[in-house]
Amino acid sequence: MPRSTEITLTCVCGNQFTAIRYHTVNVTLEPHLLYRLLAGTLNIAVCPNCGRRAESAHPFIYHDMKRGLFAYVYADETLSEDEREVLLQQLRAAYVQAVEESERITQRNQRLHETPRPTVRRSRPYDDIRAAIEPDSPPMQVIFGTGNLVTLVDSLLEPEEKLGKIALNYAHHDPAESERILAIAQQLASQAGCEAMLNDGDDLQVVYIYGPRGRINALAKALHTPA
Ligand SMILES: [Zn+2]
Repeated sequence: MPRSTEITLTCVCGNQFTAIRYHTVNVTLEPHLLYRLLAGTLNIAVCPNCGRRAESAHPFIYHDMKRGLFAYVYADETLSEDEREVLLQQLRAAYVQAVEESERITQRNQRLHETPRPTVRRSRPYDDIRAAIEPDSPPMQVIFGTGNLVTLVDSLLEPEEKLGKIALNYAHHDPAESERILAIAQQLASQAGCEAMLNDGDDLQVVYIYGPRGRINALAKALHTPA
């Protein structure tokens, strides 16, 4: 499965646009995704015409190799106990299938080799499943609600790694002006290893530059802007 796919959405305002949906969020390989998660922009499509936001309801895998977090995340935290149980059962079934499939392939590959190699004894599928559905033990946790993932991820960060933001305010005039300001902010942000986003308000627009607090503080100092 690819880590992400480009999807085409049609907004209620009639505008059609594309957005990236992440199936696997590996923040060790793509550290900027950690800050998108914290800033509330991960898997959230924003219509460039009217600013409406749509959160993807699709589950995703969150992987932070450095901090030892591997989770299967359901974006929706308003599910009932029954709905959660159904989803967990589906997950268990998919997991058993995946484990059986990989064992079949492993065994077939072993048969293809002329000289048998010593193999590490694998744990039984049942142990793997129990590990997958037991929230407190590695290798995989199941988390309901992106908000709960954010709380967990935030608790694992050092003070300098936590989310920092700079708000750049300007008067709301025309969309071309917004795009120009966003482009400047994105350039500034990428030079500092951060991200930028547009935040629509009623009569004022704000561009946010966000990222690790340490970098944001350094950037704010350079820009003479409060972080
Ligand atoms: Zn729209």
